Amino acid sequence: MIRVEKLNKSFGDLHVLKDVDLEVNENEVVCLIGASGSGKSTLLRCLNFLEVKDNGKVIFAGDQIELKTHNINQVRQKVGMVFQHFNLFPHKTVLQNVAEAPIMVKKIERKKAEEEGKRLLDKVGLGDKYHVYPGKLSGGQKQRVAIARALAMKPEIMLFDEPTSALDPELVGEVLETMKQLAKEGMTMIVVTHEMGFAREVADRTIYMHDGRIVETGNSKELFDNPKEKRTQEFLSKVL
Ligand code: ADP
Ligand code: MG
Repeated sequence: MIRVEKLNKSFGDLHVLKDVDLEVNENEVVCLIGASGSGKSTLLRCLNFLEVKDNGKVIFAGDQIELKTHNINQVRQKVGMVFQHFNLFPHKTVLQNVAEAPIMVKKIERKKAEEEGKRLLDKVGLGDKYHVYPGKLSGGQKQRVAIARALAMKPEIMLFDEPTSALDPELVGEVLETMKQLAKEGMTMIVVTHEMGFAREVADRTIYMHDGRIVETGNSKELFDNPKEKRTQEFLSKVL
C-alpha cells in the first residue's frame, strides 16, 4: 500500500528523518512508537505530503509520488489523517464537519454526503449527535467525529498521530475501541501512539523510532516481549 525508501527530511540544520525505510501492506496495522522528538510526526506528515521530503521515495499503491508529477491534493484524499487535536470546525455541526469535504472537495451531492456522514457517525457511536456543535462534545467524542470525518473521504490508508494523547484518561478507551474496530474491518493504518497496550494487542507490527531512524520493526508481540535492539529494550523498560 505504501512504501518509503531512504526518506530524509531536515528542518534547517536539524536532520529529523534519516534514511527511513518503511513498508505497510494493505489491511496491515502498524504502530509507530518512540520518544518525543524522534521524528514520528514528521514521518506521518511526509506520508501525507503535509511536509515535503528532502529526498528518498514515497511510493503509494505502486506509484512513486512526486510534487512535480502528481496532484498532491488528489493523493492526499486517499490518505486520511487524524491528529492529536481534533481540528474540527467549531461553528459547523458534527454532521456538517463530516460531510463538508466530500461535498466541497469530491463534489458529492449534499444529500448523499449527509447520508454517508450519518452512517459513519452511527459507526463511531455518535448516532445521536448529528446536529450538535463540537463545543458540546467530550474530547473522546470529538476525536470520534474526526475519525468519521477522515473516513468520509474514503481513504485507502489512515494515519493517526497520537489520537488519544490530548484526552482525559477515562476517554482514551472509546477512541481506541473505535480504532480497533476499524482495524478489524481491514483498514490499513499507521498509528503513532503511546498506548503500548493498543500497539501490542491491535497492531500487526510495531516500529520503534529513535533519533530519526527506525531502530527496530517486528511483530508487535515479539517486539514488546522480546525486543532485540538495546535501544528498544531501554525505551520499553521506561514506558512499560
Ligand atoms: P515526534 O512526533 O516523534 O515527537 P517530530 O516529528 O514532531 O517528533 O519532531 C522531530 C524533530 O523535528 C523535533 O526536534 C522537532 O522539534 C523538529 N521539528 C518538527 N517539525 C518542525 C518544523 N516544522 N520546523 C522545525 N523543526 C521541526
Ligand atoms: Mg509527534
